[in-house]
Amino acid sequence: MKMNVESFNLDHTKVKAPYIRLAGVKEGKNGDEIRKYDIRFCQPNKEHMEMPALHSLEHMMAEFSRNYSEQIVDISPMGCQTGFYLSLVNHDDYEDVLNLVEKTLKDVLTATEVPACNEVQCGWAASHSLEGAKEIAKKMLAQRDEWTEVF
Ligand SMILES: [Zn+2]
Repeated sequence: MKMNVESFNLDHTKVKAPYIRLAGVKEGKNGDEIRKYDIRFCQPNKEHMEMPALHSLEHMMAEFSRNYSEQIVDISPMGCQTGFYLSLVNHDDYEDVLNLVEKTLKDVLTATEVPACNEVQCGWAASHSLEGAKEIAKKMLAQRDEWTEVF
């Protein structure tokens, strides 16, 4: 049975993390286009990111990636804690997405603090781990040559 959500039609037992996969394209009535990518850090149902590390990685990816692109609409973690979704507007260059993620994760490695990690700017400021986020980024970058391979 085909489901409404694209990723619910993906067999998570067949994928091979890490990878970066185009998960959807939406075109607006004026021709603007949103592309959504599935950035999978962890092998589904085998491993996952711990919440404080995932949360810090979210803050840093959201902030740092926008230094490289004006076309980012959103970067959000998956509830299963195995990856993120990245959405871009009017951007159809997959290689550029790979480079964007690479540059962003390299910035995570050199970060000295998590941006907006306080009770004014974040909904759970106590739940962060800069070191945990760096470990995730380091592991992902070490497998850079596998990102294009989904299965
Ligand atoms: Zn937060």
